[in-house]
Order: sequence, then C-alpha cells, then structure tokens
Amino acid sequence: MARAFWFRRDLRLQDNIALNRAIEGALQDGDARVFPMYALDASVFENLEGIRQHSLAASLEALDSDLGGTLEVVSAEDLDNLAQKFAAAVAAQGISIVHATRAFDPLGVREQNAIGLALRDHGSFLQLDDSYYVIPPGTVMKDDGSPYRVYTPFFKNWTQLAAARPAVMVQGGDFVKLATAELPKPSKSAPFRVVAGEKYALRTLSRFRKRALDRYDELRDRADLSGTSHLSHALAHGEIHPRTVLAQLSDSPAHTIFRKEIAWREFYADVLWHNPHTLTEYYDPKFARMRYDEGAIADERLKAWQQGRTGFPMVDAGMRQLLQTGWMHNRVRMIVASFLVKDLHLEWQLGAEWFERNLSDFDPASNAHGWQWTAGCGTDASPYFRIFNPISQGQKFDPTGDYVRRYVPELAHIQGAAVHEPWLLIDGLAHGYPAPIVDHSAERQESLARLAELKKP
Ligand SMILES: Cc1cc2nc3c(=O)[nH]c(=O)nc-3n(C[C@H](O)[C@H](O)[C@H](O)COP(=O)(O)OP(=O)(O)OC[C@H]3O[C@@H](n4cnc5c(N)ncnc54)[C@H](O)[C@@H]3O)c2cc1C
Repeated sequence: MARAFWFRRDLRLQDNIALNRAIEGALQDGDARVFPMYALDASVFENLEGIRQHSLAASLEALDSDLGGTLEVVSAEDLDNLAQKFAAAVAAQGISIVHATRAFDPLGVREQNAIGLALRDHGSFLQLDDSYYVIPPGTVMKDDGSPYRVYTPFFKNWTQLAAARPAVMVQGGDFVKLATAELPKPSKSAPFRVVAGEKYALRTLSRFRKRALDRYDELRDRADLSGTSHLSHALAHGEIHPRTVLAQLSDSPAHTIFRKEIAWREFYADVLWHNPHTLTEYYDPKFARMRYDEGAIADERLKAWQQGRTGFPMVDAGMRQLLQTGWMHNRVRMIVASFLVKDLHLEWQLGAEWFERNLSDFDPASNAHGWQWTAGCGTDASPYFRIFNPISQGQKFDPTGDYVRRYVPELAHIQGAAVHEPWLLIDGLAHGYPAPIVDHSAERQESLARLAELKKP
C-alpha cells in the first residue's frame, strides 16, 4: 500500500530518516508510491513578514522541484480545519500510514497531535521518527535522570552520543502527487529574491568549509567579516540535517568550536522540551517580577530599536541588517538583545516577537532561549548584571567599522572604528543619524538598581 510523507521542518530528501521509513514501508507493502505532503496554516503564513513568507515559499518550491513537482500543500485557515482537510485528503487515497519527523517544540507538538488525531478519526495512522536534531530532545540526561540546566555538562554528555552518520536516501520510491494544490504565494514583498532549498544548503556548507570553517574559532565573532556558516536558515527549515554538518568536522580547535554551536541549538531544544512554558515565559521566574518600562516613551523606544534608530551604531546596524536580510550576526543579536532589556528596560518577549516576525532562520527554541540567555533570566552562567556596552562591543567586534557603514549609510562618511562614536565628531551626525536615545552608563546603573530590588525580601 502507498504511504504519505508529511514534510515539516525537514524540507529535504537526503539524511531524512523519517522519509526513508516511508519509502521502505511503501516498498515492503509492494507499492513504491509515496505521496509527499505539506500542511500550511494559511492564517499563520499570512501574518509572517515578507522575508519569512518568501523564505518558506522558496524552500517549498525547491523541495517541490527536487520531488519532480509532486509536493501537495494542504492549506486551511486554522489548525483544526487544517488537520481535518489533511486527514480527509489522505483518506481519499486509501493511505493508512502517514510518516513524519517528530517535533519537540510546543507548536510542533500541537500540530502533530492535531493531525495525528484527525488521521486516526479517518482510519489512518501517523508514524513519527527521528527529530530535527542529532540527539532527540529529552534524551541527554544527568546521571540522576534529571535534565541539564547548564550547557557545558550537557555538551560533554551530548558529544559522546552524537556519533550518528548521515542517512542516505532509500532508492526505489515513486513520488506521486496527491491532487493539484498550488504552492503558497507570498502576499508581501521581500527586500531581495530568497534562494533556498537542499542543494543550496549543501552548497552553503561546502562554501563555508572552504571560506571560514578552519578559522571559525578566530573569526566567528567578527561582525564585519563573513566568518560564520550562514546555515541557520537551512537548519531552521530542515534543508540540511545537523548530522550532515557534523559529519564534515574534525577534532581541530576551530571545528570543535563550530560543533559546540550546533550543540547550543540542541541544548536549547532540550531545555524547551523540558520547559515548554519558556517559549514565552521566564525560565527564571523571579525576573517576571522585575520592574520593566511601559507606556508612550517605552513604545517609542521599542519602535526606535525595531527600526534601527537608537543612535547606537552597532545596535542600529544589527536591527537594519535584520530588516534588510532576514538574518543578523550572532554577536550582534546579543548586543541588540542586551540593549533592549538592559538599556531600554523592556521585556525580552517584545524583542523575541520582533525577531520571530523577521528572522528567516527563526527557530522557537534558539530564539526564546537566545533571548533569555542574553536577558540574564535563562539557562547557564549569563548573569543579569553582565550588561553589554554597545560602543565597546562595536569597537571590538567591528574594529574596521565596515559592518556599521554597510547598514547605516548616514555614517558612511566616517572612517574606521570612529563610526562607533559619531557624536564625538563635528560632522558625525550631519547626515541624519540620530543622537543616542538613552545614556548607556545611566541605564546600566538603573538596570542594576532594578536587579537589587528583586533581591529584597
Ligand atoms: C537573541 C538571540 C536570538 C536568536 N534567535 C535564533 C533563531 O531564531 N534561530 C536560530 O537559528 N538561531 C538563533 N540565535 C542563535 C544564533 O545567533 C544564530 O544561530 C546564528 O547567528 C546563525 O548564523 P550562522 O548560521 O552563520 O551561525 P554559525 O555560527 O555558523 O553556527 C552554526 C549553527 O549553529 C547553531 N547556532 C549557532 N549559535 C547558536 C546559538 N547561540 N544558539 C543556538 N544555536 C546556535 C545555528 O543553527 C547555526 O546555524 C539567536 C541568538 C540570540 C542571541
């Protein structure tokens, strides 16, 4: 009997264990047909910013092309209707088993529960295998059986287990289109044409190996250089599995640091699996009691941060990079996040929501816990009192000033690292760049005072 495969955040053919199960199952049943499907919540898609709509559409288009034009996108206005429509389409073909990769994040779990139940009601079965990770969340535990709260011991344990080799695609499957539904069309524009898909992801990995992998330990924090892999979009959409990435690494210092970054993604997925509420709530609940700013001035400051008009060049370059490219350098993500929480005294969730709307590599676990880590309310040893100075961070991680000049044209006339303090120059603010909206030293003191309030009984 034919099988169906539900593509989710695993938009690829190679190293896809759940897809292999579908093909093997169909072959064992003496019917090589596999119906590739995708479930799209149309209202969620409509609410995405242009860059995110285009990145998903480009990934699906590439996958459809790799599948010989057989991808069936089932679309409905909300999850319940989507699940019913999906299950009805499967039942209409007499398919009894739908295969998929198991999700571990709260929304992914909700989706697979809804679709699994609807399939059951229609007489079919959802078989879940593998995960978006090298080690499924919930697997790496302390000796006493409890989950890790700190990254370094998690990594030590994870690295012992993370030896799985990439899975080669099982041959002999015959991909067949279920009906004739069209691929989703973005309703909003994107700042550039997004290129995506499995082949592009593999090319990105291979270019990174030649360009920067061997110097990753030295270059990864430099915002003005291209020292990182730019694989985050591909990993977030599952155009490449992290097993495939790890298989390219040796034990050299640079490769080991890169492996550790892949493990951060796995750590945050594990933390979110054990603490699903931390997608939107404080991991350390005491920070929910902190004094945060609200009202008209806070709203204005949030808007200035979102649009890259805070008057702090490194912050503004990062926020404009996000709007122009759908991506931001990791070091700069930390700088802008620290600025929002500790200079503007706004809650981390406001920043995380903005990132979610605009990041083409949006990942629920990495985003929520990247924010909480920087805000000082998350896992690991990143105490709240560690407050990033946006000026010295700029001088250190954009020492040429090229990063700021690339994204902030009003500062293009300033040479070198002087671009990080334009207010010191006679003509620094002459081309429309704003003066700083807050005084960093004063806000730092204010943050520490608010932290002290939390410690009072
Ligand atoms: C506030 C904040 C929000 C973030 N939101 C996201 C998000 O929504 N999606 C996302 O993929 N990453 C997020 N990150 C992590 C990190 O910034 C990006 O993964 C990285 O910048 C992507 O660029 P790259 O692929 O060139 O990374 P590389 O440096 O080449 O790293 C390789 C891969 O390792 C993983 N990785 C690297 N650093 C981290 C990290 N600190 N945490 C988790 N995984 C990591 C990513 O999958 C990345 O693609 C966030 C970080 C912060 C501080």
